[in-house]
Amino acid sequence: MTDCLFCKIIAGEIPAKIVYEDSQVIAFNDIRPKAPTHILLIPRKHIEKLSDLNADDAALSSHLMLTVGKIAEMAGINENGFRVVVNNGPFSGQEVYHLHFHLLGGKQMSWNPA
Ligand code: 5GP
Ligand code: ZN
Repeated sequence: MTDCLFCKIIAGEIPAKIVYEDSQVIAFNDIRPKAPTHILLIPRKHIEKLSDLNADDAALSSHLMLTVGKIAEMAGINENGFRVVVNNGPFSGQEVYHLHFHLLGGKQMSWNPA
């Protein structure tokens, strides 16, 4: 998707502070951090939102979930805990339509939307 912001980050066309990458996913710092640590974990494959994942994406979905803990450990937020947020569609306020997991940590969360 040439007009997708996160695909451009994957392609190196837009700079980002990458904190982890492998053949299937990359993770980078959010440009407007909402917490001391705010990392976005995304699949290299352009998938617009969580609810668009299908059976063909089973291995990728698993890999994304398994990578959350690895990145949290690397970022030093695993011991105290952190929040994972996935916005999905208009009512959630999703701004970038390339699936991403927000990893938010480094402070006590004061609001629990769930
Ligand atoms: P959403 O609201 O779609 O769940 O989250 C999109 C996130 O992308 C926001 O937290 C926003 O700060 C972040 N973001 C938007 N543009 C850029 C950018 O150019 N670079 C980086 N690193 N993050 C961005
Ligand atoms: Zn994309």
